[in-house]
Amino acid sequence: MKNEVKSIDISGQKLVAMRDAQSALAAGASRVLICENCVVTPSARDFLAQHNIALVANGRAKAAAAYGESPSVPASMPASGPHSGNSGAAQSRPAPNPKLFFTPEAEEIKKEICAVGRKLWMRQFVDGNGGNISYRIGPNEVICTPTLVSKFDLTPEVLSLVDLDGKQIAGTQARTSEIFLHLEIYKAVPEAKSVVHCHPPHATAYAITGKVPPNLIVPEFEVFVGKVAISPYKTPGSVEFAQTVLPFVKQHNTVLLANHGIVCWADTVTHAEWYAEVLETYCWTLMLAAQLGVPISHMSEQQGSDLLAIKKKLGLPDIRFDTSRMKECQLSDLEVPGSIALTPTPCDGNTGKLQEADLEALVKSVTDAVMGAMSGK
Ligand SMILES: [Zn+2]
Repeated sequence: MKNEVKSIDISGQKLVAMRDAQSALAAGASRVLICENCVVTPSARDFLAQHNIALVANGRAKAAAAYGESPSVPASMPASGPHSGNSGAAQSRPAPNPKLFFTPEAEEIKKEICAVGRKLWMRQFVDGNGGNISYRIGPNEVICTPTLVSKFDLTPEVLSLVDLDGKQIAGTQARTSEIFLHLEIYKAVPEAKSVVHCHPPHATAYAITGKVPPNLIVPEFEVFVGKVAISPYKTPGSVEFAQTVLPFVKQHNTVLLANHGIVCWADTVTHAEWYAEVLETYCWTLMLAAQLGVPISHMSEQQGSDLLAIKKKLGLPDIRFDTSRMKECQLSDLEVPGSIALTPTPCDGNTGKLQEADLEALVKSVTDAVMGAMSGK
């Protein structure tokens, strides 16, 4: 499947409009190179997608319409809402293009998925045929891992391509049965380009006890993951299960799946796996610290704010940011030492500015709970 790749470079432009799209077609281009934060008009996006012309940002391959739903695109863009389910927005998506499975970009992504699969297995985040990995290579095309294959044994040949309804459109092996979890995230979060689902033991220990790890203890966790939500249990593989994460995935890149495992999304496959590693190591560290028999020390309010500022610069989501999209949910009281329960439903309360009082209450509640447990022994 060798396709001649002809590229047009307009990475000096901040805007890609219909005229640029038509010029690219007239020149016989199969790729248009653009700058990372470029705005693509909806009509240009649709035009390029219809003609199978990919938009590529600063050397990192991304399929054309992946940009069509990027945050830089005007809000008037048709896009799947977080609760649209599988049927609602299907008509607004272009017909799936099986050719995207064989592009040079796809071949690179397939290699990355296989490498990440081996990492998951080596770190004991997946057992048997557990766990799954995907990448959204087009507006209606997602590369994913197959069912019944160990993540250690992945090869590019066993991966498959599905559309956003979960229908397989390329690849010889049957897709993972848990693909709907990935697809719901892609439909709800345009920034999500990759989803990794796995069962790391320490994070899953939190998931089976219905607890989320506390915050303001380890900087790396605050920056890359931050607050974790927990979604309610439903039978894996079902659309109903997949939709349990919808209230959380815009404000959280990592969600605990009750009595099951975790799911992470990111801009790349590698980064999604990083978040799984960061969460797992954090949960493990907390458990080790709990065995030491002394209270955990916490960051100050200012130190927490400094980390959130770094996080904002990195463009990572956090429910504690104060924007119209990120609302803070109520922090409930601690029931068990070392745990903070985040009310697992979307709330329409106050905006999520990092409130001094909230941070203070957070630190105090953790300290109180740990101290309470200590004094009770
Ligand atoms: Zn699973």
